[in-house]
Amino acid sequence: MKKLENTALSQDYILHPTVLFIGNNIIVDNKTDAPFTELQNAIKLLRLTVHNAYLADKVVVAKVETSSTPAEMLEKGFKLYPVKFFLSLPQSEIIHKLILQAMHWIEWDLTVQYCGQCGNKLRTIADLNEKKCDTCGLSFFPKFSPAVMVLIKKENQILLARSEHFRPNVYSTIAGFIDAGETAEEAVLREVKEEVGLEITDLEYFGTQTWPFPDRFMIAFKARYLGGDIQIDTKELEDAKWFTVDRLPELPYSGSISRRLIDSCLSDILKN
Ligand SMILES: [Zn+2]
Repeated sequence: MKKLENTALSQDYILHPTVLFIGNNIIVDNKTDAPFTELQNAIKLLRLTVHNAYLADKVVVAKVETSSTPAEMLEKGFKLYPVKFFLSLPQSEIIHKLILQAMHWIEWDLTVQYCGQCGNKLRTIADLNEKKCDTCGLSFFPKFSPAVMVLIKKENQILLARSEHFRPNVYSTIAGFIDAGETAEEAVLREVKEEVGLEITDLEYFGTQTWPFPDRFMIAFKARYLGGDIQIDTKELEDAKWFTVDRLPELPYSGSISRRLIDSCLSDILKN
């Protein structure tokens, strides 16, 4: 992605299809849920202030603020969706990727502005995802925090857990960050032991996904229960229990790898 200066934005890119973010929300068409708008039009209609704008292929993505209320936005034919919810809607792989990339890049660009070594202002290298300190020479690249998630199966049941950070009533997989020096597999075993006190076996790689809320790189596994009783680490979790296919709690939105992992395990169980 290429960073756009405001002058470039007003002249060359104003008529490009544009995706607009306000915080962790995305502006969509009220009738079609389409995320694309025309920036010039949207600035006028919704009284937008553009903070940062980027060009991803032919699409402009921008972080904006608005002085319009939700009711005023609706009147003009727009509404706000939380990005995580938007990602759960049926849409093309290309849009999905664009949104994940844009969220990650915008967050990184806004939060990494000064050199961590000498404190001077960083210079963005326009066509690269890189910022450079011209004083000490240090380079900075978009940051990823690798984390693991695992879905544990015990005969026809799966283990799901709830953290206070989730939407109300939602249960998901066990997850946690990889420690320095650890492999992803070691992190899975440690997290499961720490958070729910269980032993697991037959770890099987499932897939990965960048998840820019704010900078996760998720590595997902399936595993089989080996032993132990559930003992919840109450600092991390509110609840954790075994669920059967016919009695499931509310699950994460379907755009997330956690939901794909859960769906895949449920389908494994139903096949057997
Ligand atoms: Zn420096």
